[in-house]
Amino acid sequence: MELFDLPPQTLGDDTHQKVFGDLPSALAAALRTAEVGDVVLQLLDRGWRPGQLSSRIGALPAGADPAADVLALLRGFLDQVPPDARWREERAQRQASQSQFEEPASEQSRQRWISEIRSQLGGPKAPRPQPLLRVRPPCSLCGAESEFFVTRSARLCTACVQLLESGTAVMPSASPAAQEAG
Ligand SMILES: [Zn+2]
Repeated sequence: MELFDLPPQTLGDDTHQKVFGDLPSALAAALRTAEVGDVVLQLLDRGWRPGQLSSRIGALPAGADPAADVLALLRGFLDQVPPDARWREERAQRQASQSQFEEPASEQSRQRWISEIRSQLGGPKAPRPQPLLRVRPPCSLCGAESEFFVTRSARLCTACVQLLESGTAVMPSASPAAQEAG
């Protein structure tokens, strides 16, 4: 495990404190060895952060030989992908699988949006209601569009002419003379 041309390294005080500072001081002192330091430095080189090592060491159940347990734990980490790299890998996989599944879904939702917008706007086949243009003056009796000129001030629609003819309605304002004149 150790390189031929490098002597085993102990950790600097700062790094030792970051990795082992939460342990009982006797145990932390027992871990201040070149063997432990070498493993820790390899792990830090690979992207492990001191806090990630510290929290895992702190979670180690107490055993008969805590220093040996810590060293075994650290050596086990040499076979693992560091947490940050594993997190990046998992995130990349999630994004890859999401983009696989989301592109058809987003196309579906895009089509749904388009059809909703089309239905709200009215498609080319939907008839646009024609504006009602009153081209003739209103009927003097009912206010509907008049068909017949009676006098200058009196006009009638077809329905009201039929009512007048049947005697059901009378012209309220027009005199008989005016009717005859019209
Ligand atoms: Zn009328």
